[in-house]
Amino acid sequence: MSMFRAVNLLRSHTAMARSSMRSTPSVAMQKRFLSIHEYLSVNLLNKFGIDTPKSLPASTPEEAYEAAKSFGGKPVVIKAQVLAGGRGKGHFDNGLQGGVHLINTPEEARDLASKMIGAHLITKQTGAAGRLCNKVMIAEARTPAHEYYVAVLNDRVSQLPVLIASNQGGTSIEEVAKENPDAIITTPIDFKNGLGQDKALEIAKKLGFSGAEQEKAAADIFVKLYKLFEAKDATQVEINPLAETKDGAVLCMDAKLGFDDNADFRQEDVFQLRDVTQEDPAEVDAAKYGLNFIKLDGNIGCLVNGAGLAMATLDVLTFNGGKPANFLDVGGSATAAAVKKAFEIVLSSQEIRSIFVNIFGGIMRCDVIAEGIVQATKELNLSVPLVVRLQGTKEAEAKEILRNSGLKILAFDGLDEAASKAVEVAK
Ligand code: GDP
Ligand code: MN
Repeated sequence: MSMFRAVNLLRSHTAMARSSMRSTPSVAMQKRFLSIHEYLSVNLLNKFGIDTPKSLPASTPEEAYEAAKSFGGKPVVIKAQVLAGGRGKGHFDNGLQGGVHLINTPEEARDLASKMIGAHLITKQTGAAGRLCNKVMIAEARTPAHEYYVAVLNDRVSQLPVLIASNQGGTSIEEVAKENPDAIITTPIDFKNGLGQDKALEIAKKLGFSGAEQEKAAADIFVKLYKLFEAKDATQVEINPLAETKDGAVLCMDAKLGFDDNADFRQEDVFQLRDVTQEDPAEVDAAKYGLNFIKLDGNIGCLVNGAGLAMATLDVLTFNGGKPANFLDVGGSATAAAVKKAFEIVLSSQEIRSIFVNIFGGIMRCDVIAEGIVQATKELNLSVPLVVRLQGTKEAEAKEILRNSGLKILAFDGLDEAASKAVEVAK
């Protein structure tokens, strides 16, 4: 694999890259992943025999105090539990700097927990709104002598899982990937046979641990990380830092695990760890109604049936100089009530300046959609212009319903003219 590819692979898998990709619908649509919190990830690592510092979660300042106390007065780290990387260098919306603090007393744990819990942590991966911190993790402090980076990911190009490792781990790994790609070692892994002990040891030697014992420990971790990746249908197992401590231990001091949503049926124990408070509320709400919704950052609300047509719709809007506010596939079996719900969700975004309904009636009947549109428009007091294109099954009936509704609906037959109208009225 070329360095260029390795770098791009690493970059494309960081949450930062993923969040900036959200404005590109075709990428945002490819896959939804489950992420789980660090305090839960460490349990999973431990189950696979991978060492981490000892830790306890806490939901209140008092629990944080007790947790810190249980480490016998030794220094601990307090870590905000939000589903985003870059916590160490982040800041809270109440002014507190840093989502990771090294502290010496249980009182400090209580004090910091009281500031972190209930606040939003903003990091370079969260966007300006940040993520709500509901819990903190109290971990025994260890002193890293050196910080490494290791991750297992799927590589689209080789169509294999790969282990990515660097001896320049820590909070600036993205910069390392950009400026010093030679510092990243990428190793393809045979899907069936896993990562061999010899190969793993070879990687560890290249990274340069302090001695044979540490090389062996690191290699052992690499092998087990892949085992976890495979057994749990993970899409991302990222450890940063993998630390060699002053006392010669090799430990995973942070963990970011992602899982393939398509595997939820056979990974129930993992998927029950989902924390919806970390997800976009509109997206969570939509999923409950069987609507496939992804928020984007434009101002034209979209309501479409079929993922392919939905993507084409976003493209045509973009092509006409508009910016879609969302991807929304209402599916093939939506009821009028679900359509109304879809409108509500689209309208929950403050930025909406027009709504574009683009339905190709097949299994989904146009008249059902039209009824949903009329209901929603009346009940929700719709004030933004509504551009509608309905074609296919029960099209004539649908048009009749819209005409008789007395509502001001801009109806079109052609996709291009409808899209350009939706763009025009949004301006
Ligand atoms: P992230 O910023 O979200 O990636 O959070 P991390 O869990 O990786 O913590 C950020 C940084 O804090 C790490 O890269 C370490 O340098 C540091 N850190 C974390 N735990 C400890 C610890 O126990 N002792 C010391 N000295 N530093 C720590
Ligand atoms: Mn980290």
